[in-house]
Amino acid sequence: MVEGVTLTVEVRVGLAVTEVADGCPHTELLRRADIAMYEAKSSGRNLVTYSPERDGGRLDRLSLLAAELRYALTQDDQLFLELQPLIDLATDLPIGAEALVRWRHPRRGLLGPSEFIPIIERSELIHPFTQWVLDEALSVIGSWHTGDLDVPIAVNLSARSLLDRTLPGDIDRMLRKYRIPASKLVLEITETVIMSELEVVEEVLDGLRSIGVQIAVDDFGTGYSSLTFLARVRVDEVKIDQSFVKAMHHSVEASAIVNSTIALASSLGLRVIAEGIETPEQRAELEALGCTGGQGYGLYPPMSIDAATALVEEAADGLSGASAASGH
Ligand code: C2E
Ligand code: MG
Ligand code: MG
Repeated sequence: MVEGVTLTVEVRVGLAVTEVADGCPHTELLRRADIAMYEAKSSGRNLVTYSPERDGGRLDRLSLLAAELRYALTQDDQLFLELQPLIDLATDLPIGAEALVRWRHPRRGLLGPSEFIPIIERSELIHPFTQWVLDEALSVIGSWHTGDLDVPIAVNLSARSLLDRTLPGDIDRMLRKYRIPASKLVLEITETVIMSELEVVEEVLDGLRSIGVQIAVDDFGTGYSSLTFLARVRVDEVKIDQSFVKAMHHSVEASAIVNSTIALASSLGLRVIAEGIETPEQRAELEALGCTGGQGYGLYPPMSIDAATALVEEAADGLSGASAASGH
């Protein structure tokens, strides 16, 4: 019983055994246990013991990818960021850009984040990877000349990064290195972060807030505890998940969620961004509902850093030209 509610907890166990004499390193042993656990989850069995026959292929593939990623992080031509502009739905001006990572794999071609982020999240690569993304994003912000136009860059953080007590200090150091005001950096986190180890997460979030970086809740509405999240974690921005934007037209429920999220965010004084806007109808409806910002293929797709730079600097030039003409 938790606060009067009966919760049912289910456990799946993955077991991996080794003889000390085998000389199997502990990371390898953990990886095997992990694979057995995933098999337990997917097959619905409570306990699965690792067996090399069944999982050899998968194990090899995962550990190979992890090794290749470790190498990719040391190269400058494999991992790269694209930026997807966020715009003000009323004025069309860019109000931000989200950094989205891609991997130009030497043999497998271009890979999207869903193909390798899960591997990063389950390995010790999480720390160097997060540092790499932040470093790239901050160097872009540092190079932008946007005048009066405020265009922060948003970086996605894995839930696991919020368990890293050194994160706020690291970010603070990087902001100083590039001489960037902290408010130019938005960190996107998801609701899942508060499900576990709340104390550490709160400590890290407090640390980040005290530096002055902005926090956004990504994929809002998809977790189990969206409202609780907003009550607990002070954020600057709410991003409505694209599944609701997509379903808004034919689903009363989705449209109610979009509607009330916009109302909730505005009564809390938060920016609200609708993700995954693909059609003019979606855009018009969101604007009518009072949604201030949008992101989606129907506005701008993710693009190269150069293309995004040209776009925001052009918008900034247009803005300063317009204010000069009107005598401001
Ligand atoms: P996200 O943070 O929700 O990012 C938005 C995703 O939606 C991006 O996919 C973007 O390309 C896609 N998208 C944008 N507009 C539209 C649209 O109109 N329609 C549709 N269907 N999709 C749209 P992407 O680049 O594949 O990234 C997927 C997820 O991977 C991201 O979801 C984010 O959670 C994660 N991710 C990306 N980069 C990083 C990173 O550097 N670190 C971490 N930890 N996660 C990342
Ligand atoms: Mg995001
Ligand atoms: Mg999202």
